Amino acid sequence: MELYDIVIIGAGPAGLMAAGHASELGARVLVLEKNKYAGIKLLMTGGGRCNFTNNAPDKIFAGKFGFNGKWLLSGLSNFNSDSIIDFFAARNINSQANLEGKVYPENNSAAEIRKALIDYVESNQGEIIYEARVIKIIKDADRISKIILSDNREIKARNFIIATGGNSYPLSGSNGDAYTWLKELGHKIIKPRPALCPIIVKENFVKNLEGLSFQNCSLDIYKNNKKISFESGDFIFTGHGLSGPAALNLSRVITKEDKTNLIIKIDFFPDESSESLDKKFQELIESKSKESIRNILRKLTQKRLADFILDNRNIEISKKGADLTKLERSEIINFLKNLSLTILDIGGFNEAMITSGGVDLREVNQKTMASKLYSNLYFAGEILDLDGPTGGYNLQIAWTSGYLAGESAAFHKD
Ligand SMILES: Cc1cc2nc3c(=O)[nH]c(=O)nc-3n(C[C@H](O)[C@H](O)[C@H](O)COP(=O)(O)OP(=O)(O)OC[C@H]3O[C@@H](n4cnc5c(N)ncnc54)[C@H](O)[C@@H]3O)c2cc1C
Repeated sequence: MELYDIVIIGAGPAGLMAAGHASELGARVLVLEKNKYAGIKLLMTGGGRCNFTNNAPDKIFAGKFGFNGKWLLSGLSNFNSDSIIDFFAARNINSQANLEGKVYPENNSAAEIRKALIDYVESNQGEIIYEARVIKIIKDADRISKIILSDNREIKARNFIIATGGNSYPLSGSNGDAYTWLKELGHKIIKPRPALCPIIVKENFVKNLEGLSFQNCSLDIYKNNKKISFESGDFIFTGHGLSGPAALNLSRVITKEDKTNLIIKIDFFPDESSESLDKKFQELIESKSKESIRNILRKLTQKRLADFILDNRNIEISKKGADLTKLERSEIINFLKNLSLTILDIGGFNEAMITSGGVDLREVNQKTMASKLYSNLYFAGEILDLDGPTGGYNLQIAWTSGYLAGESAAFHKD
C-alpha cells in the first residue's frame, strides 16, 4: 500500500495551495521541493510586496489570458480572486487594492504570504521534504506509479500533482525539469518561451535615456507595417530598450513572433492628437519666444527627454523659441507622438517573470486539473500553458489550479 494519497512536486504557490487544501480534506500529502526553502520565487513577487491577485471580475480576468482564458472560467467559478483574498484574511492577512485592481497584503509582505501557505500545509499534517529533486516519473499503463529522486529514492503515491513552475528565473528552482518528463509521458508541451521580460531594441541611443520612466503612454507593435498589438500604461527606458508594465506585457506577444520587421512605436501623449500637441507647443513658444528652446521643451516633457530630443534632432539648445523652424517643430512633435524603435529581441528566461507555453490545456480537464492521459496525474500553476499580464494575474493561476488539483486529487480514490 502507498504511504501517501498525493505526492506534489514543487513547493511554490501552486504546490503549497494544492498541498494545504488536499491535507485539510484529509488526504495524506507529501510535497517534494528541490530547494532548501519553499516559495523562493514567491518571495520576489511584486518586488517583495506580493501582488497576489487582481480583483477584476472573472470574465475580465479570464480575458487577460487571451485565447486560453475561456479554459480558466470554470476554475475561477470555484476559486477566484475573492476566494484568495478571503483565504488570506482568514489567516490574518488583510489586503489592499490599488486603482488597477492589483491586490497586495496590507503589510506588503511576500514573506507573510509564504508563511501562511506553509502553515496551511503543516497545520493540516501535510509533509514537506526539502532538497528533494525529482528526476523522473514512472508510469504503469495509464497511471503514474512512482517518482524517482536525484538520490535514487523512489516514492509511490496514489496521485501526483506536478507544480514545478515554468522555466523563468531558473535559479529560483523552476528550470523546466518537468517538460522533459511530461514529453516522455506523451503529454504535449506548447513551446516554453520567456514572457513578461524587457524588450531589446536596435537603437543604441536608448542608453542615453536609461532610467527615464513615463506614465500613461501608448505602445504599439507593428509587424511588417501592420499593427499587431498595443498597450497603454507605464514604461521605463533601460540600457538596451524598454521595461515597465506596458513593455513587459507586450513581451507576451513579441515572444511568439519572428523578430524580423518588428517595430514598437511610442506615443508619449496618447490623449492628444499631433495637431493639438503641436498647437500647445506653439502656444508655449509664443508665450516664451525669447527663452531657449531647451527651456520651452522642458515645460512640455521631462528634462532629460527634452534635451535628448534636441540633441537627436541636431537642434541647438540655446536657439530662441521664436527661431525654431516649422520642420524642427514638426520633428519634435513626431518624436513625442511616434517614436519608432526596431525590436531585436526580448530578455531571456533569466529576466522573464513568467513562462509562456507549457502543458497543452487540451490535455487537461479544466474542472479538475487532471491529466486526460493519466488517471492519477494533476497539474497546478505555471507548468500549464497559461500566461497573464502583470497585475496579480499569474499568481491567481497558482491559487486556482492549486486549489482544484488538491481537491480533485484528494477525492480521487481508484
Ligand atoms: C521577479 C518576479 C516577480 C513576480 N511578481 C509577481 C506578482 O507580483 N504577481 C503575480 O501574480 N506574479 C508574479 N510573478 C509570477 C509568479 O511568481 C509565478 O507565476 C508563480 O510563482 C508560479 O507559481 P508556481 O507554484 O506554479 O511555480 P514556482 O513559483 O516557480 O514554484 C515551482 C517550485 O517547484 C520546484 N521544483 C521545480 N522543479 C523541481 C523538481 N524537479 N523537483 C522538486 N521541486 C522542483 C521549484 O524549486 C519551485 O519551488 C513574478 C515572478 C518573478 C520572477
